[in-house]
Amino acid sequence: MIKQKCLLCGQADSHRGLCSPCRDMLPMLPAERCPRCAEPTPGGSLCGPCQRRPPHFDALHVPYLFGYPLSGLLHAFKYGKRLQLAGVLSGLLSDFAAGQSRKYDFVIPVPLANERLAQRGFNQSGELAKAFAGTMNSRFSDDLCWRKYNTLPQASLARAERLRNVRHAFGVKRRCDGLCIAIVDDVATSGATLSSLARELKKQGAKRVDAWVLARAFSPKT
Ligand SMILES: [Zn+2]
Ligand SMILES: [Zn+2]
Repeated sequence: MIKQKCLLCGQADSHRGLCSPCRDMLPMLPAERCPRCAEPTPGGSLCGPCQRRPPHFDALHVPYLFGYPLSGLLHAFKYGKRLQLAGVLSGLLSDFAAGQSRKYDFVIPVPLANERLAQRGFNQSGELAKAFAGTMNSRFSDDLCWRKYNTLPQASLARAERLRNVRHAFGVKRRCDGLCIAIVDDVATSGATLSSLARELKKQGAKRVDAWVLARAFSPKT
């Protein structure tokens, strides 16, 4: 195996681009969290919003909090076109998934609208999803779904606005009868984007839709 220097501190002894002290610095999401949407809850109980109005995905799997130093890596990856970070970041998601036995018929990224894709040059979720599909021994697809239009950045909106913002943003090209599908993204905030995409997949017959995300961000409660 080729030795790669740690991306954060430059030390030579790294595993998939991060040395173990730097890896330990990555902010973990609390272990006690809602089994549906990963919101931290006392004793890991189902959170209030999921009791009242559960999201359309069946579970959100996410190892980290969107915080220092992971936020910096994700930002460099997404906006700085540091594509070599794809391996490191997808490695973190794959390590997290390593103990899971679930197999998916398809692993798909959250699609970008065409203009956004042209602007950025690549879909950051696509890079993560591709590597994740390999780990899960599942098939990758980036043409099952499409995004109809660019939405406002979710982080700038309150919860109710976020739901509205993405409600009809996605389309699904084929029937998905009986399929188990994993959606992959880099960061989730309220989960509204993932829920909206999951809803379209279920409308096309998908049996189960899980979301796999590297980091969960929290916006001020509204
Ligand atoms: Zn390091
Ligand atoms: Zn919840």
